[in-house]
Amino acid sequence: MEAPTSSSTSTAPPSDTVVVSGIQPSGELHIGNYFGAIRQHIAFHDKHESYFFIVNYHAMTTVHDAEMLKRYTLGVAATYLALGFDPDKSNLFVQSDVPQLNELTWIFHTLTPVSQLEKAVSYKDKVAQGLTANAGLFNYPVLQAADILIYGGSLVPVGADQKQHIEITRDTAQRFNRTFCPDDSIFPVPDPYILDDVAVVPGVDGRKMSKSYGNTIGIFDEGKTLKKNVMSIVTDSTPLEAPKDPDKDNVFALIKLFADVDKQAEIAEAYRAGGYGYGHAKKELIALITDYFGEARERRRDLIAHPDYVLDVLRDAGRRGREKAESYMERVREVTGLLTTY
Ligand code: ADP
Repeated sequence: MEAPTSSSTSTAPPSDTVVVSGIQPSGELHIGNYFGAIRQHIAFHDKHESYFFIVNYHAMTTVHDAEMLKRYTLGVAATYLALGFDPDKSNLFVQSDVPQLNELTWIFHTLTPVSQLEKAVSYKDKVAQGLTANAGLFNYPVLQAADILIYGGSLVPVGADQKQHIEITRDTAQRFNRTFCPDDSIFPVPDPYILDDVAVVPGVDGRKMSKSYGNTIGIFDEGKTLKKNVMSIVTDSTPLEAPKDPDKDNVFALIKLFADVDKQAEIAEAYRAGGYGYGHAKKELIALITDYFGEARERRRDLIAHPDYVLDVLRDAGRRGREKAESYMERVREVTGLLTTY
């Protein structure tokens, strides 16, 4: 697997940067998640003090099945480890292993205007997609602010669609500091690290690949599942012998993610020459995906067979996460006047 070509901010982050990022365990991770987020997380995770957490509280806004939630949570952990996340260089843990988070979320609720949450585009989008408008979904950005600030996060790698939530986090940090500790701010005001070189990965129906559209190809799909998913990619009805425009085809859009430039040029040429059908391209794509994630697939199989190792990684990092969170919460309780008698 290649490292991403670039992920941009205009200047290099300062050395005291604390990177935080949440990953949602609300389904199996797909290749859109890989190229849109995970690849950048892996490229970035060992460069600064960083906290990557699997946001199972967030996932509960849509997943209410205990077995599924546990399976997805461990699945995300195994996926990150298989794809190259080094647990000795960064922290990968489960959100609910840091109970202080709920305490901070409540405090932030008391500072957040309802009108600000009502304007959140992602809430409106999710409800428009048919998700139940529960209070958890509505309050999601408040929990996200606590997620980031409880570790003193100063840099948050996100897709452009998440920028508004980081704005809410920035406002929350400023509001807290202004209200409770104007002379000695507790929370840094974090910056988004916008992964703006990321193209939207199309799903098998040509729309954005997304769990909610059921149009995904899983990172670790293989065998019959991979074949079925790739074969279902929607193409136009140009006959096999006719020349085709690779830049108008969903299969080629995915091939470009996996093939090196020479291979891309070779396949594009075959499209233009004619006599090369979409079936050929799909077979090529299956081979490319199988090869690209081959080693990671083996590692993941091994990790799933040894969940104790994965649990150890999560437990160790969770302890470090709790310690960091507690160091912030001691100061938060003091400046807010939350009397603690134990
Ligand atoms: P989903 O839409 O499947 O629910 P999420 O919203 O959980 O995916 O996205 C997790 C991360 O993966 C986000 O950073 C998002 O920007 C990225 N991502 C998801 N789908 C795609 C896609 N089709 N193309 C590029 N990036 C994507």
